[in-house]
Amino acid sequence: MICDHYPMRIGGREADAASGARLEVLNPATGRLLCTVPAGDADDIAAAVAAAAAAGEVWGRKSPLDRAAVLNRAAEILTRRMPEFVAVEVAQTGRPVREMLAQLARTPEWYSYFAAVARTHETHVHPFGGAYLNYSRRAPLGVVGLVTPWNHPLLILTKKIAPALAAGNTVVVKPSEVAPVTPLMLADVLDKAGLPAGACNVVTGYGAVAGAALGAHPGISKIDLTGGTETGRRVAALAGERLIPFSGELGGKASVVVFDDMPDDRAVSAALFAAFIAAGQTCVQGARLLVQRSVHDRVLDRLVARARRIRIGDPTDPATQMGPLVSQRQLDTVERYVAIGRAEGARLAHGGNRLQLEGMAGGFFHEPTIFAGVHNDMRIAQEEIFGPVVCVIPFEDEDDAVRLANGTAFGLAASVWSADIARAQRVAQRIDSGIVWINDHHRIDPSSPWGGFGDSGLGKENGIVCYESYTRLQSVVVNLSGDHFDWFADDAADKRYS
Ligand code: NAD
Repeated sequence: MICDHYPMRIGGREADAASGARLEVLNPATGRLLCTVPAGDADDIAAAVAAAAAAGEVWGRKSPLDRAAVLNRAAEILTRRMPEFVAVEVAQTGRPVREMLAQLARTPEWYSYFAAVARTHETHVHPFGGAYLNYSRRAPLGVVGLVTPWNHPLLILTKKIAPALAAGNTVVVKPSEVAPVTPLMLADVLDKAGLPAGACNVVTGYGAVAGAALGAHPGISKIDLTGGTETGRRVAALAGERLIPFSGELGGKASVVVFDDMPDDRAVSAALFAAFIAAGQTCVQGARLLVQRSVHDRVLDRLVARARRIRIGDPTDPATQMGPLVSQRQLDTVERYVAIGRAEGARLAHGGNRLQLEGMAGGFFHEPTIFAGVHNDMRIAQEEIFGPVVCVIPFEDEDDAVRLANGTAFGLAASVWSADIARAQRVAQRIDSGIVWINDHHRIDPSSPWGGFGDSGLGKENGIVCYESYTRLQSVVVNLSGDHFDWFADDAADKRYS
């Protein structure tokens, strides 16, 4: 079912890199070769941007009604092809099939939601005064560059491409070199849905080569990236040079704040769900578990007991609850941070080791890992590890919880767990994060704005605000009076110009 080689998509056609270079995609559960994709470079990016610009002449002029019809068809085709997408996503990311079934089943909603937004979005008539009609209109930006990571390859691209296309833009996608296959498959879905050739181009390749070339290309009108904070800074600087909009969904270090009125079993399931989904490789991972001191020891003991029972193994097995990390590099990072945590004096309450599983000896598996006795200023509490590691930190009261939750440079997400909803909202509103869940974590919807503060990025995905960010607003002022206005007439009369 999985092919040996997946070509890129440029101008509606399958293409290999102009240089002929390829890169290898590994199966994280075995460490073995899964397939190859082209290793595109600046030449391929230039061809893709040219194709997207040409397609913009067609797609950008279509009515919202026509664009919505294509996106609705894409939602239908994607739904029909879901088993194929799930199988490939599991194979290239190592994420368990039960997670990918749950996550990918929702992706068609983004296409139908943004189809509906395109159909219903209204602009304003402004109270300009006098005999003027002033209205605003939203026009597409042009060619948009979309750079995506490996942890949710299809979902994250979907969050960007659905609003970008709905608003009339054409796109050049640079997916992660680690998991590029489902983005290539998505281009085929959009093609079959009736998107004009060249409106969606996918160039695979390394970030420092193909990604950097896309960010620097003079033909793009916006660059939207999900990735690490340092990558975001680099790409934002390129956008800054050219004065084009940049949107960045970057790193995180989310806090899960548990008050003592939360039943223990809910608190523990919350912490497990927040910390260990995707083996901790999500930007909103609950990497910092802040527990009110009166229940801290009890919650920690139960958390350790439950973490011991997580079933780690073959991601294609529906019974598996946690798969491998995505790569040797990610595994090395986790091991390095476990050593840092120990050296900083944190107590390893559970885990801390890589795992060799039978039949998957080359897989990148690591135990779920719990550090207790963590201080907020330790590196393991501050830096994004992006693996199955959670730091447990006690707090005294509301003020202390807010101080700790706000005590990182990141500001992507947090969750607050309390039976007292008034208190939970009070605390939520004091936390400097773009997303705060109350008595939940990880929940997402195409209508719900998603994006971070501080080092977690700029801009929002999802919702009307995201659709608008893929447009430029033009103000049209119409003089309806028909009067002859002559500022320089020699009549000495008082004249109004504002
Ligand atoms: P990464 O920054 O290494 O790579 C992201 C993408 O950027 C890849 O396609 C990569 O090839 C490309 N890239 C790398 N260097 C580049 C450069 N110099 N110029 C242009 N493109 C370049 O990130 P990753 O390891 O793929 O993903 C993990 C990171 O993504 C984590 O930090 C995580 O928090 C973040 N993330 C954020 C969100 C969010 O919604 N905020 C969601 C998922 C992941």
